[in-house]
Amino acid sequence: MSAHPTIADTLEGTVDRHPDRDAIVYPRKEQRWTYAEFDERVNRLANALRDRGIEKGDRVATVLYNGSEMALTVYACAKIGAVFTPLNFRLPAGEIEYIVNDAEAEMVLFESATREAVEGARPSLETVSEYVFIDDDREDAAVPEYARGFYDLLESGTPERPDVRVDEDDVYAFIYTSGTTGRPKGVVHEHRNMVEHNLLCIAEMNLTRDDVGLSILPLYHCAELHCNLFARIHRGATNVIHHEFDPERALEAIEDHGVTILFAAPTAWNALSMAAAELNADVSSLRLGLYGAAPMPERVLENCMEQLCEDYVQAYGMTEIGPAGVFQPPEDQRSKQGSAGLPALNHRVRVVEPDADPDDEVEAGEIGEILISSPCVMREYWNRPEATAQSLREADGTTWYYTGDLGYRDDDGYLYVVDRKDDMIVSGGENVYPAEVEDVLFAHDAVDEAAVVGEPDEEWGERVVAYVVAENVDATALDEFVLESDRLADFKRPRAYYFVDELPKNPSGKIQKFKLREDEADVDPERETVA
Ligand code: ATP
Ligand code: MG
Repeated sequence: MSAHPTIADTLEGTVDRHPDRDAIVYPRKEQRWTYAEFDERVNRLANALRDRGIEKGDRVATVLYNGSEMALTVYACAKIGAVFTPLNFRLPAGEIEYIVNDAEAEMVLFESATREAVEGARPSLETVSEYVFIDDDREDAAVPEYARGFYDLLESGTPERPDVRVDEDDVYAFIYTSGTTGRPKGVVHEHRNMVEHNLLCIAEMNLTRDDVGLSILPLYHCAELHCNLFARIHRGATNVIHHEFDPERALEAIEDHGVTILFAAPTAWNALSMAAAELNADVSSLRLGLYGAAPMPERVLENCMEQLCEDYVQAYGMTEIGPAGVFQPPEDQRSKQGSAGLPALNHRVRVVEPDADPDDEVEAGEIGEILISSPCVMREYWNRPEATAQSLREADGTTWYYTGDLGYRDDDGYLYVVDRKDDMIVSGGENVYPAEVEDVLFAHDAVDEAAVVGEPDEEWGERVVAYVVAENVDATALDEFVLESDRLADFKRPRAYYFVDELPKNPSGKIQKFKLREDEADVDPERETVA
């Protein structure tokens, strides 16, 4: 190993320190492996991948739900310098085709739950020479004839550490963005950035080897994979893995395994706190909750504090920086409600005029584009030099990542995320942040979902319009509701309401506003709009 560790070294270091502590617990398959046992299996898989022709730099794609197999695969790739490329398990065939071809992957791992989609894509996957299927006796899922069984492959590998030199600046993974603002982009991460990212997560969460984490968020997303699995393995903590999120089973697992730390999205926290109130589960082992991707509604946070545990950490970030770059520690939860927090260790944050130079900072309280300088920032977007140049810019020897998010800092330097830059509407020279308008609409009982976008307008440049999923309400009533709320200046008031059965979303459930702007929504022509 060189002086600087790789992701494989972070595992091997833990094996040196704590070979007999539990590394992976996967109740679905009754697997429980110590660090030494896990590492031996990782070596076997790594050697087996090499036997199948996977070399340093080759891309290994997964279309997998959570499981011990995902953990084995990511570390096996790291040991031989193969490029781990995890795909969202909910992607339809067309999206799998796009990403696997974009990444030019050599190998695809999949399972019964993703088989149909992978088979739909398969005729168009020209670079893939090998398919590996997670054989699962429980479901009686036979390995398709064109694929190899995962556990056969694992057993075929020899247990010694593979003889491949991997350096800190070698590529560790292509992690695709969620595809909220367009096609997913392949984020190229090196070993070094991820080791840095592990360290800051360990510090921000005060992780110890006695911690027990439960993975319920998908491991294909870097939030769970890096902030949780990677950080815990680096530290020597225990990882309990659930195939999918189920609130009752998660609560049982907290009790059974003494889970101390849990990462969930605000919607999942809500489901957990409600289930906990009903089941009266013993969750006293839980010491820290983690959430991200969106601010947690105050009411949900209060319920969680009452039902689950006292302390929460919020993380803000994006795939391009690993993803965590800003943390809100437990002590600020109440006093800085709604804030994403302060920059993570070794991170800097600036708020500038959108697209302006890094020196063009706006005043405290003013909204601008959020820039982050991070030791965990990606090397580049795969095969997209223009997008890379747009988002990574140098100033005075520092590289700034342009997040495309808008926000402001308060007088104490706490960051508040407002909206995405591309979603901002400029109407008659005034800026409108859709999230603010959507918040008002959400307050109406009949509104299930709302997305506010700008529509070209001859007089005003753009006019504010709202797409809503709502029963038993019409446009006039919504307009009156907005007026009565007295929370929006007149230029922010939607000029039209379009009623739809559903909003276009990416597979993680984020609304794809670019599709609304491109008129791709199926608007109900029977229901009126207001002018
Ligand atoms: P794409 O880049 O393909 O359009 P995406 O930006 O949704 O997709 P991710 O990297 O998964 O892909 O998501 C990062 C984005 O999620 C951030 O840029 C931000 O808009 C939002 N986000 C993340 N954390 C928070 C948070 N704590 N509060 C508010 N928004 C957040
Ligand atoms: Mg993004």
